[in-house]
Amino acid sequence: MSITEKLFSRLEEKEGRMIEIRRYLHENPELSFKEEKTAQYIADFYKDKDVKVTTGIEGENGIVVEINGRNPGRTIGLRADFDALPITEETDVPFKSKNDGVMHACGHDGHTAYLLTLGETLIELKDEWDGTIKLIHQHAEEVPPGGAKSIVASGILDDLDEVYGIHLFPMYETGEVGLVEGNAMAGRSNFNLHIQGSGGHGAMPETTIDPIVAGSHFVTQVQSIVSRRMNPKHTTVVSVTAFEAPGGQNVIQDKVTLRGTVRYMEEENKVPIHDEMVKILNGLETAFGVTCELDYIYDSPVLYNDPEKTQAAEDILKNSKGGHISNIAHHDPSSGSEDFSYYLQKTPGTFINVGAKPDGVENAYINHHPKFDINEKSLLISAKVLGEVALSRLENE
Ligand code: MN
Repeated sequence: MSITEKLFSRLEEKEGRMIEIRRYLHENPELSFKEEKTAQYIADFYKDKDVKVTTGIEGENGIVVEINGRNPGRTIGLRADFDALPITEETDVPFKSKNDGVMHACGHDGHTAYLLTLGETLIELKDEWDGTIKLIHQHAEEVPPGGAKSIVASGILDDLDEVYGIHLFPMYETGEVGLVEGNAMAGRSNFNLHIQGSGGHGAMPETTIDPIVAGSHFVTQVQSIVSRRMNPKHTTVVSVTAFEAPGGQNVIQDKVTLRGTVRYMEEENKVPIHDEMVKILNGLETAFGVTCELDYIYDSPVLYNDPEKTQAAEDILKNSKGGHISNIAHHDPSSGSEDFSYYLQKTPGTFINVGAKPDGVENAYINHHPKFDINEKSLLISAKVLGEVALSRLENE
């Protein structure tokens, strides 16, 4: 029996347990940067196992588990995130969230359940493979600055040769595995803009500096960044998502606040979009006499799947004998963002989409919906996919 066959048969035996873990986590979700109990649960899982467990990385909740194989060799990182979202669950599952207003609505419960089970199995078999596998149990994927940032900054992953991760998506059929070569998910910036004017009587605008009029010009002028300043062959998004100016009917505001988000599929556009926004604000200050204070935050970078590693993963999965993959698809890039991009900035690898559409459902609820649910068959599929990729890549020179 090959090591992969052994891995698969043990994972199959553990499928029920894997589902139990997922349901426990689903019932007990915790918000980003507050996932202490989940982190404790993960650390406890490895307590009596012969591995090095590093918790509380950079004072946060991230955990890295180092498994050393039979002989030294290559080092592969496998990552699963474990935070939940501020959403009130509206499903009817018996293991519905017990924490009001908090829900595992992005499948991170499933990610954690399969990586724990895969990790345990790789530990059981560690005298049969060479090299090192680092399991990255990551907190706070959903909220900037993202848990990945602190784990990478700690240096604990500096020795990785390659890194892989999976995301479950119910919009894809269970059994489908999707790969994207190159730029796969958008980079993200967020901004808060405070426009200071000079308030006064609504009937005497000439005695005021009206920040609402200046802010309205901002809203329309930023539309020209994507349409007139960016390469039309690139994907960029600038969205103003809030315009806060509460007031009455006869009072001109003193100050207003606008907020928004920026996405870009090419890393080279990160700074130019910011620069264009600053130019628009300089113009507003001159034209309207307002003062603009821009708080512009660069968040996670473009997620770049190394083409060579993505092709290698595809070749491994295409030849898999696990019977768990019905279709390998080439998915389109997504304008969503993921802080797995931080690992990929430093270490080549690929982020794999795994289909998780519930049985008998035509249009599944998408990630972040209050009725979001996954097909639990996707857990065993994910464990097999990532386990086989890891073991194959450890053997690669
Ligand atoms: Mn997610």
